[in-house]
Amino acid sequence: MPEKSNTMDEQLNHALKQRKVLENARKYQVDTLTHFVAKLSLCCKGLDIELDNRLAAFRNTLNKGVNFAQLTPLIDDILTLLKNQETVQLNNQRALHSSIQAAGQQLQKNKDLPADTRKKLRHLLDDDLDNVKSTHGYIPLLNQLVTFYQQTLDTKLTLEQDKQRSATSALANKLLGLAHQLVLEDESAEQVQAIRATIIQCHTLEALLEAALEIIAIIVKNINGERESAQSFLFSLNKTLGQLHQSIFSTSQHSESMGVEFDALNKRIKTKINNLNEQTKSTASISSLKKLVDIELKSLSEDFMAKEALERSDREQLIASFGEINGRIGCLENKLSNYKKRLNEQRFKSLLDGLTKLPNRAAFDERYHHEMHLYNVQPSDITLVVIDVDHFKDVNDRFGHTAGDITLQVIAKALKNSIEATDFIARYGGEEFVILMPNTVLETAAVRLNKLKENIKKIPFKFKSKQIEITVSLGATQFKPGDTVLKAFDRADDALYEAKNSGRDRLCMSK
Ligand code: GH3
Ligand code: MG
Ligand code: MG
Repeated sequence: MPEKSNTMDEQLNHALKQRKVLENARKYQVDTLTHFVAKLSLCCKGLDIELDNRLAAFRNTLNKGVNFAQLTPLIDDILTLLKNQETVQLNNQRALHSSIQAAGQQLQKNKDLPADTRKKLRHLLDDDLDNVKSTHGYIPLLNQLVTFYQQTLDTKLTLEQDKQRSATSALANKLLGLAHQLVLEDESAEQVQAIRATIIQCHTLEALLEAALEIIAIIVKNINGERESAQSFLFSLNKTLGQLHQSIFSTSQHSESMGVEFDALNKRIKTKINNLNEQTKSTASISSLKKLVDIELKSLSEDFMAKEALERSDREQLIASFGEINGRIGCLENKLSNYKKRLNEQRFKSLLDGLTKLPNRAAFDERYHHEMHLYNVQPSDITLVVIDVDHFKDVNDRFGHTAGDITLQVIAKALKNSIEATDFIARYGGEEFVILMPNTVLETAAVRLNKLKENIKKIPFKFKSKQIEITVSLGATQFKPGDTVLKAFDRADDALYEAKNSGRDRLCMSK
C-alpha cells in the first residue's frame, strides 16, 4: 500500500510539473505576443489615431491575461483599420510619386544645374521613380533629390559670387579711370592717390561706394575752396573800386573848393585894378601917383603870389591824387591779371590727364569737334587714330596696378615722342589713346603709325625681373565728306576692333 501511495504522489508531482511547464510555455507565448503587439503598435503609431487606440486596448487586454472572447472584436477592428490604412498608404505613395516628379521636373528647368547632376536627375525621374515598389523605396530618391537641390544652390551661389566679383572689378576700374581724370593739387591730390590705392584693394561694392563718396567729398571741398577764393577776389576788387571812387570824389571836391578860392582871389585882384584905375584918374601929382601905385602894386603882387601858391598847391594836390588813383588802378590791374592767369591754369589743368600729363578726353572732344567743324567748312586731309594697349589687364594682374600705371606713363611718353608737332594726342580713357593728324592722308599716316607701333614694342619693360614686351593695336580713318564726329570715330573704332580680332599688335584702316 505505501508503495501505491508513493506512486500516486509521484504521478501528482509529475502532473504538477507538467502543468508548470505548460503554464510557463503559455506565459512565454503571451509575453511574446504582448511584446510583438507592443512593437507593432510602435510601428503603426501615428498612422491612424483609431488604430493606435485599438492596439493600446489590445495590449491592455493581453496584459490582463489572454481572453479570446475580449480579444476577438479588437482583432476585427484592428484588421479593418489596417485595411483602410493600406488604401491610405497607396494614396500617399501616389502623391509622393507625383511630388517627387514635379520637384524633379522643376529642378530640370534650372539653367544653373551642373551637367553631372542633370544627368543623374534624368535617370532618377525616368527610371528609378517608376521602379519604386513601396513608400520606403521613395526615401533614397527623396534623399538624392535634396542633394541635387543642394548642389544646384551651391553652384548658383558660386556663380552669383563670381558675377558680383566681376561687376565689382569693372566698377573699380571705372572709378579708377575717373579718379585719374581729377586734376587736383597738394593735399587733395595725395588724398585721391591714397583712395586710388584702396580702390585697387576693394573687393566689395560697399568698399567701392565708400571710396566713391570720399572722392566726391574731396571734389566738393575743392569746388567750395574755388568758390571761396573767387568770392574773396570779388570782395577785394569791390574794396579797391570803393577806394578808387573815394579818391576821385575827394579830388573833385578839392577842385571845387579851390575853384571858389580862385574866384575870390580873382575878384579881389580885379577890384584892386579897378580901384587903381579910378584913383589914378583923380590923383593930382606924379609923386602922390607914384606912392599910390607903389602901395597898390605891392598889394597886387601879394595877391598874385597868393594865387601862384594856390595854383601850385592845387597842382601838387592833383598830382598826388592822380598818383593815388593810378596806384589803385595798377593794383586792380594786377589782381585781375592774376585771377585771369589762375583761371587759365585751372582750365588748362582740367584738360590734362593726371597720370600721363597728356590732354584728356575733354580736351580731345573739344579739339575733335573743332577739327570736324573746320573740315565741314573747308575739307582738308585729316586722319583720326585710336590706339589700345594689348592685354593690358594682364600687366595689372601679374605685376600690380602701380606697374600698370608706370607702363601707361611710359607708353604715353613714347607716343608723344613718336608724333609730329602738329599732331594732337590725348588719353581717351583707361589704356586707350587717340591722335588727330592734320594735313595727313591715311597712307602717310599708316607709315608713321607702323613706326610708332614698333617703337612701343621695342620699349624694354622689366617687372619683377621679367622682361616684358608690350604691344598696341591701332585703328585709323581719314575724315571724309558727310562725316560727323560720331561717324568718323565709329570707323576708327571698327578698324581697331578688326586689329584686335585679327591678332593684335597691328594697324587696321577704315576708308
Ligand atoms: P585687349 O587686348 O582686348 O585690349 O585686352 P585688355 O586687357 O587690354 O583690355 P581690357 O579692356 O579687358 O582691360 C583693360 C584694363 O586696363 C583693365 C583696367 O584694369 C586697366 N586700366 C584702365 N585704366 C587704368 C589705369 O589708369 N591704371 C592701371 N594700372 N590700369 C588701368
Ligand atoms: Mg581698352
Ligand atoms: Mg586693351
